[in-house]
Amino acid sequence: MNFDTMTVGQIARMVSEKKISSGEVSKMYFERIRKEDKNFRSYITVCEEEKGEPSGRLAGVPISIKDNICMKGTLTTCASRMLEGYVSPYNAHVVDRLSSEGALITGKTNLDEFAMGSFGDNSALFQTKNPVNVNYLPGGSSSGAAASVAGGMCVAAIGSDTGGSVRIPAAFCGLCGFKPTYGAISRFGLIAYASSLDTIGIVTRNATDAKLLSSVLFGKDERDMTSYDVNIGECEIALGDIRFAFSDKDLEDAETEIAEVICRVRDLLLRAGASCVDKTLFGNAKSDNAYRVLACAEATSNLARYDGIRYGGKSGLDVLRTREELFGEEVKRRIEYGNFVLAKENFEKYFKAAADERTRVIKETEMLFEDVDVIISPLCDFSVPTYSNASSCRADRFTVAANFAGNPAISITAGRDKNNMPVSVQLMSARGCDAKLLSIAEKLEQLLLKEGAV
Ligand code: GLN
Repeated sequence: MNFDTMTVGQIARMVSEKKISSGEVSKMYFERIRKEDKNFRSYITVCEEEKGEPSGRLAGVPISIKDNICMKGTLTTCASRMLEGYVSPYNAHVVDRLSSEGALITGKTNLDEFAMGSFGDNSALFQTKNPVNVNYLPGGSSSGAAASVAGGMCVAAIGSDTGGSVRIPAAFCGLCGFKPTYGAISRFGLIAYASSLDTIGIVTRNATDAKLLSSVLFGKDERDMTSYDVNIGECEIALGDIRFAFSDKDLEDAETEIAEVICRVRDLLLRAGASCVDKTLFGNAKSDNAYRVLACAEATSNLARYDGIRYGGKSGLDVLRTREELFGEEVKRRIEYGNFVLAKENFEKYFKAAADERTRVIKETEMLFEDVDVIISPLCDFSVPTYSNASSCRADRFTVAANFAGNPAISITAGRDKNNMPVSVQLMSARGCDAKLLSIAEKLEQLLLKEGAV
């Protein structure tokens, strides 16, 4: 078993063709976790137990779950002291779906506390390392999700993406990160950060695996009223037939190496016969600020339930001390900022202005997708940061638009920089066009492989 390259598709096939039993896969992966995770620290909880011989499309496929997603009878901490002893009494929708297809759930992965962060350096419990090179940040907030796959300690991971949290760590760890259309996957059992932006996302080695998992996870669920049926059937589209948006403006602040990788992607698509229009959605500072206002406002109200009485806490603390002592600094900063923008005297100036900006982005996005199939951009315009240089990076510049407008977006590895760290490209499509986006991403990955770019 080559843990470093194994995919969902390969394990599912091997098990269904009886080349290996799911019990054997399970044994190998838990052994691997025992051996490797002390170096990378991707798991908060490892769920090793005898599971018999499951059946289904994902029989025996090892998949990890971010620790802000509930799983019956296991700890769900959100990597916060606030929920340190919390055992979930029920399964999230995604856990039910995976289990019903026979997946092997390996455990619960680390994250930036309450999914607030871009670099994976903000867990209240411990630091996850990037398996590509431990001197670099793993990316966040789904840091453990990406590290668990990149370290070969499962073949896919379920995370959440509110403003980039699945795409960024996937990109930093050389993987594929897929954020579907808002509502395509039920959020039932996902602990809320900013509900109107929160999306369950998938980390895999490639877009083919992301498609396979989407076909299991997509679909309306009565327990999440924002969920609906998004088509995830086959979509045959040749790269030569697509029309994409691309703008040099997105590369103005980019490091040279990043710009080179992204331009090569553009050139490959043009050579394949695709057509290109010079347009972009990104880089508007107003829109980044609006994200912050809206995400914090929603977080303030979602996190109000952690008072040590209804949820969270530790015995012997009153409400104020519970919140003062058990929330981390970044979480408290965001709650404070959320309260500030929601205060009556600030509401128009901050909250209303941000909501208007979001509406503008939604309209602009819809207009753009009347003309193109996909927008191609960097996922980040800087190379994977080390522990010392993260704070100066604007990680969410290219990612939040997809959450604002609810569009599907995916990051795939498109090259390597001089330090051999991965460089990723982002593809974004119109709402509901997930099948088309995945098909384009899959073909682009194959083309990049053929050209020796990755
Ligand atoms: N980096 C963004 C934030 O901290 C997005 C996080 C996320 O997608 N959960 O808000």
